[in-house]
Amino acid sequence: MKAYKIAAIPGDGIGSEVIAAGVEVLNALALRESSFVFRFDQFDWGGEYYKQHGRMMPEDGRDQIKDHDAILFGSAGHPDIPDHITLWGLRLAICQPFDQYANVRPARLLPGIKSPLSNIDDGELDWVIVRENSEGEYAGVGGRVHQGLPLETATDVSLFTRSGIERIMRFAFKLAQSRPRKLLTVVTKSNAQRHAMVMWDEIAEQIAPEFSDVSWDKMLVDAMAARMVTSPKSIDTVVATNLHADILSDLAAALAGSLGIAPTANLNPEGEFPSMFEPIHGSAFDIMDKGIANPIGTFWSSAMMLEHLGETVAARRLMNAIERVTADQQFHTPDLGGNADTERVTQAVIDAIRGSNN
Ligand code: NAD
Ligand code: MN
Repeated sequence: MKAYKIAAIPGDGIGSEVIAAGVEVLNALALRESSFVFRFDQFDWGGEYYKQHGRMMPEDGRDQIKDHDAILFGSAGHPDIPDHITLWGLRLAICQPFDQYANVRPARLLPGIKSPLSNIDDGELDWVIVRENSEGEYAGVGGRVHQGLPLETATDVSLFTRSGIERIMRFAFKLAQSRPRKLLTVVTKSNAQRHAMVMWDEIAEQIAPEFSDVSWDKMLVDAMAARMVTSPKSIDTVVATNLHADILSDLAAALAGSLGIAPTANLNPEGEFPSMFEPIHGSAFDIMDKGIANPIGTFWSSAMMLEHLGETVAARRLMNAIERVTADQQFHTPDLGGNADTERVTQAVIDAIRGSNN
């Protein structure tokens, strides 16, 4: 029987709560499919590890997970440690060296969930945001000198390469082409940022003819934020820089009901390194240890992982189970206005998997 080796990295805060739930659901799914099993290796990297060892993961951490079939990640972020240390020491320390340059973030209004938007119904918000995940504003280029003095100076330099933009642009056009509406919006800020963002627009123009059946338009990021609220139905696939797409996808998640639902895939499309799947939310210090974190974002990310592994039947079964559960208000966690806890939602999804015939 096929055995998938999965590296589970729960991280901190609610990351560990939702990953535990995800592992339970994936094991139940494997039992139901009976054509594969998961072998989970758990890694205790993150804030607590940092407190003991002075780093978020061991020096040979990436070597320990480079041969896994996929990575299931919770969240990097600890109340006692500055956010830039936890983020760069763990999540970005995996994404960037493993060249997971395509970050895919679907946002869809699931059955039973209400959007804060009054102008859409079920099924009318169905977007995928593609985030460039290896460079741009997150290139880590910059510095800080003369700290504490009046002449203290700091820079964060956005760095864009032609090859980096070309590969994410082709990825986004191809993804748009695979979806029924074949519609792509290319987002920049090429009025104010007149070098790299202009190059981004030019590369979109150059690549578009390779995908002549895809309709596409360009939009400035601020106008795009407004369009997501005022004409959500006009949007399908979106491609944007690392920072712009990070912000737009939190907005998308909120418009689709809650940050607790939204999934992400960090893909290395060439398969040279494992890809990483995670909910888009962080450690949620305000609700950690209460057992009320919404695990749906992790379950949906797990469905994306199954899709990536080629297990499309299992992926669909999991998505169907998720949708059956969200349709029922008694399984809504507090972020969705309900009073279910993580455990209850997890059990409901497992029951739906066990009872499913498709
Ligand atoms: P956050 O996503 O942790 O929380 C924002 C708000 O959404 C909070 O009110 C939280 O309670 C709510 N929320 C998030 N996920 C939820 C869920 N599953 N169920 C119910 N409610 C949920 O963002 P933040 O507060 O800006 O960040 C907290 C920490 O997490 C910081 O250290 C930050 O750096 C880190 N972070 C990590 C990642 C990551 O590792 N991918 C992403 C975002 C933030
Ligand atoms: Mn984010």
